[in-house]
Amino acid sequence: MLIDLHTHSSVSDGTESPAELLATAKAAGLDVVALTDHDTTAGWAVAEAARPPGLTVIPGMELSCRWFPADQPPISVHLLAYLFDPDHPALAAERLRLRTERLGRAEKIVAALAADGHPVVWERIVEGCEGGVVGRPHIARALVEAGVADSVDHAFATLLHHGSPYYVAKADTEVRDGIALVRAAGGVPVFAHGLATARGRVVGDEAIVTMTEAGLLGLEVDHPDHTPQQREHLRGLADDLGLISTGSSDYHGANKPTPIAACTTDPGQLEALLAAGTGSAPLRD
Ligand code: AMP
Ligand code: FE
Ligand code: FE
Ligand code: ZN
Repeated sequence: MLIDLHTHSSVSDGTESPAELLATAKAAGLDVVALTDHDTTAGWAVAEAARPPGLTVIPGMELSCRWFPADQPPISVHLLAYLFDPDHPALAAERLRLRTERLGRAEKIVAALAADGHPVVWERIVEGCEGGVVGRPHIARALVEAGVADSVDHAFATLLHHGSPYYVAKADTEVRDGIALVRAAGGVPVFAHGLATARGRVVGDEAIVTMTEAGLLGLEVDHPDHTPQQREHLRGLADDLGLISTGSSDYHGANKPTPIAACTTDPGQLEALLAAGTGSAPLRD
């Protein structure tokens, strides 16, 4: 059984449509794939219609959250959510708020880049967002098209990283509120790439303990951005706290070099996740 529980389509910041993504998953030999676009469920219906026979699709999402330490600025925390009710009103409202927040902050980043002579046009970037979820990868692609950067990765390294003068934060969901919303909607919240230091500051173990007390059910242990030591630490923490351990590629199509199924989830851990999710059902034969 090959299981990849974290992928992005063009509905958020991946480059393949949900149908293309599922075809990629099937071609890579996956038995189970989760569609986890940022802050939206817009790909779920398309995925259901386009699902290749034999492939199980777990409906999911990656919710943009923040952890507020006592003595430092907030830390970005990505919360994977699986099998929740897409019509749960409070969670749907929070997704909408986050998408609106993304629009406002991306427009600010683009305006600042344009003011410094980088030829990026906001209208074109928004038009290029098929699913309506705008993120820095869309700005990165525009910078590549404009000849300002050689690649999406280069655009991040030079202009879009979290320490850049062009970086604008967004008012992401307080993570304990996000966990509570996902649980209220019958979903399974899993902390995504929790120790990926390349993305910015990461939380300490005490935050993960607090998140567990708030209802967190899993940790993404095997992720391309985690070192072997970070994976071992998270695996130990998951065992100590009674959490599900997952593994996934965080596939983004051509926006990242990582192939689908680069990291995978143990079938027993998937069973625990399926048993915990009550808000929606996996799509399967
Ligand atoms: P945002 O959600 O707008 O803050 O943008 C963050 C997203 O950018 C993440 O979900 C990643 O998909 C992507 N990202 C971050 N760093 C890189 C990078 N170096 N190369 C390509 N994509 C990246
Ligand atoms: Fe992304
Ligand atoms: Fe993420
Ligand atoms: Zn992701």
